[in-house]
Amino acid sequence: MPKTVAVIGGGVAGLTVAYELQQYARHPPDGVRAICLEASDRAGGNIRTHKEAGYTCEWGPNGYLDNVPATPALVRRLGLSELLQQADEQAAIRYIYRAGALREAPTGAGAFLKSGILSPLGKLRLLGEPFARKRPGSGDESVYDFAARRIGSEAAEVLVGAMVNGVYAGNVRELCLKSTFPKMYAMETDHGSLFKAMLAKKKTKSGKSDNAGPAGPGGVLTSFRPGLETLIQGLVKANGNALRLNTPVQAISDMGSRGFRVLLESGPPLDVQGVVLACPARAAEAMVREMDPVMADAMGAIPSSPLAVIHLGYNQAALDSMPRGFGFLAPRGQGVRILGCLWSSNIFPGRAPKGKVLLTAMIGGAEDTGVMDLPDAKLVELARHDIQITMGIGVAPEFVKVFRHAHGIPQYTLGHQDRLRIIKERLEKHPGLLVGGNSYGGIAVNHCVEEAPGLADELVRHLES
Ligand SMILES: Cc1cc2nc3c(=O)[nH]c(=O)nc-3n(C[C@H](O)[C@H](O)[C@H](O)COP(=O)(O)OP(=O)(O)OC[C@H]3O[C@@H](n4cnc5c(N)ncnc54)[C@H](O)[C@@H]3O)c2cc1C
Repeated sequence: MPKTVAVIGGGVAGLTVAYELQQYARHPPDGVRAICLEASDRAGGNIRTHKEAGYTCEWGPNGYLDNVPATPALVRRLGLSELLQQADEQAAIRYIYRAGALREAPTGAGAFLKSGILSPLGKLRLLGEPFARKRPGSGDESVYDFAARRIGSEAAEVLVGAMVNGVYAGNVRELCLKSTFPKMYAMETDHGSLFKAMLAKKKTKSGKSDNAGPAGPGGVLTSFRPGLETLIQGLVKANGNALRLNTPVQAISDMGSRGFRVLLESGPPLDVQGVVLACPARAAEAMVREMDPVMADAMGAIPSSPLAVIHLGYNQAALDSMPRGFGFLAPRGQGVRILGCLWSSNIFPGRAPKGKVLLTAMIGGAEDTGVMDLPDAKLVELARHDIQITMGIGVAPEFVKVFRHAHGIPQYTLGHQDRLRIIKERLEKHPGLLVGGNSYGGIAVNHCVEEAPGLADELVRHLES
């Protein structure tokens, strides 16, 4: 009899772990069988592509960066490479809305000094980064405190604040540096300075820049011509009948050497030899509450921020101008409520019908949690208002679509490392139980894909023992 593993959650994390486990189907002596239990009637979690009126709109993520080898490798293994679409080269041009204008984010030192992105004093302070105060003690430091200490409060607010909005929809003062930007943390630890770390990296690459910055190495935003859901369709096909939709899991219990019992909301329980909790931490919390309240508490303490995604389609002819580029981020305190706006049909040509333009605004985040209470019409009004202020587009869109994520992005707030430590310690008390997905060690699609083979491997080793 093959050993059975239940993977709970059919987002990209769960589907990829289940797919990796399929590779052990004939593993001696008996093989491993994975079943992927998904609560809703569709797989993919946050990843969903909506097509309407010739527009291709992403419900959640727009793509992945191609610099983490695991995701391109998965795409190749699934036979999806021919459908890939890389961001247009104009996506390298990015803007920050500051002091009433869109300002091009500089890519080099010369451009930075000429740009109006920071005041002269703010620029001077940033250049003093190598002489910044040392990290105070060994405790948690927020992203803001780290950035203000190293590059000054203005750059922390404007540059780092905008980046945190764009990636985490988070509060720069609440997020834990080590958990959210581990590379920046390591750069300071290893080199004592971000500039010195970047110089050292350049030297080891024989002077060649790999577009790396303190937030980590760059990469090209990549999706598929039909949209990011192509990845999910590939994983669903590869998982075959291992995927069970409409199967919400209620609880799991540890039966010791006999494995785990998975209680479903309806139907008989499943007895399995291993479990991967690849659902959001808030869902996992409820499942493990009775079995391990300490683990449940740690999972329940990982918050998430809400996010609304507002797609607006325009007739290009009706717009006075449409700048080239990726879009812009709006740091807080600049008089606009949206977190930023992607110029989606610039990034991925073909996302709007010919002669039309698709813009995608994001609103909400950890500092604006009330957005979920607003009706769609109000969200559209807010997005249009801010697009008029920032981009000067006052005409009415001919197409509108709003998507809501009540629990959009996990927030690795101060104390996240402690929560991870507790979860890890508690998991050790339940051999054969693992966690995955974007609540813990990385919020991006790449993280979910990259960790999957290791989780599958760890489970198989456990099943062999
Ligand atoms: C608006 C937005 C934009 C984003 N943009 C990007 C981007 O451009 N690039 C990027 O890399 N990342 C982006 N992200 C993050 C990205 O979406 C996540 O990294 C990724 O989708 C997380 O996948 P997951 O499988 O861990 O979780 P999810 O996608 O949340 O999937 C979890 C699954 O678990 C299921 N589940 C929950 N409870 C139960 C239960 N009781 N029983 C069974 N199943 C259950 C859910 O139904 C869901 O299908 C974005 C996120 C949002 C919200």
